[in-house]
Amino acid sequence: MIMQNLKILKKGKKQVNSWKKQIILITSLCLLSIASGCTQTEEKTEQTTAQSSVSNTEKTQIWTTFLPVYLFTQAVAGDVANVEILVPPGVDIHDYQATPDNVRAIASAKILVKNGLGMEEFLEDTVKNAENPQLVQIDASKGINVVDVDENIVSAKDKKDHDHDHDHDHDHDHGHKHEHSQGNPHVWLDPVFAKQQVINIRDGLIAADPQNQQTYQANAAAYIQELENLNNEFQQTLSTTPNCTFITFHDAFVHMAKRYQLQQVAVVELPEDKLSPADVKKAINTVKKYNVKALFSEPGVDNKLLVSLSQDLNLSLYPLNPLENGETNPQYYIQAMKSNLKNLSAGCK
Ligand SMILES: [Zn+2]
Repeated sequence: MIMQNLKILKKGKKQVNSWKKQIILITSLCLLSIASGCTQTEEKTEQTTAQSSVSNTEKTQIWTTFLPVYLFTQAVAGDVANVEILVPPGVDIHDYQATPDNVRAIASAKILVKNGLGMEEFLEDTVKNAENPQLVQIDASKGINVVDVDENIVSAKDKKDHDHDHDHDHDHDHGHKHEHSQGNPHVWLDPVFAKQQVINIRDGLIAADPQNQQTYQANAAAYIQELENLNNEFQQTLSTTPNCTFITFHDAFVHMAKRYQLQQVAVVELPEDKLSPADVKKAINTVKKYNVKALFSEPGVDNKLLVSLSQDLNLSLYPLNPLENGETNPQYYIQAMKSNLKNLSAGCK
């Protein structure tokens, strides 16, 4: 019964050169992480929109795709631009399907900021349908190379076992497959890559909207300083637990782990299905094989399966925030990452 709380995402498409040829079993908690703050943030976005149409008509309009790029763009833009978000917080970016409103927004947009690396699978068609030749697209991950990142990924079950599940198959083709074509796209969870994203956004905004250059530069510099401090904090704290191996149920923390000499083992399932006792057994074997120190779920998830699994395995269970949902204040990124550090450190002790 508890197992039904876990949603397993299929990896989808065949491996592309970048990723290890191991089969993946990820139990994604994305869809379950519906925080109570989501409603609040959506309201906030609406207020911003309403306000902008009344009193901020002269401000530069910037569209972003989902939360992390929204936060970084907002940090750089400050109050000289109106920053909007296509995928509202509370909606899963991995499964996102564009709406007619999204197409209309892009049709009249001047600037669009995306995470890139294939994260926004819906975007290519949406931009095409919007037919806006004036649109300036800023790829926040430009120059970030994640193709050669090693991954520890564990299969709990052979794909064959699920051949009877064709009904589920189609729906879930929109799962994590995009993550694998250009490397794992969850780069914003590494403060050093996040800094590069802020730099890319800053430079893109300056190029598209040069009259606000000074503001963009000053705001970016202040936020970059915070990211550098964050990186130092991660380095110092996690250097005391080198090679700590942890299990996640959302393959989002591989870059963060690599940056700080930790080891993420993502538990992934092919195709999407509920965990079976066999899956749990293999997860347990994985824990033994990798000398795992901790299990990490996601904030806001009341997951009894993970609690009981962690008890059975005598491992600590903490939340790690992938920041795909949350508050729309740029400081939210810094605060949530500090919580992540605290939990990583506690789990790896
Ligand atoms: Zn994700």
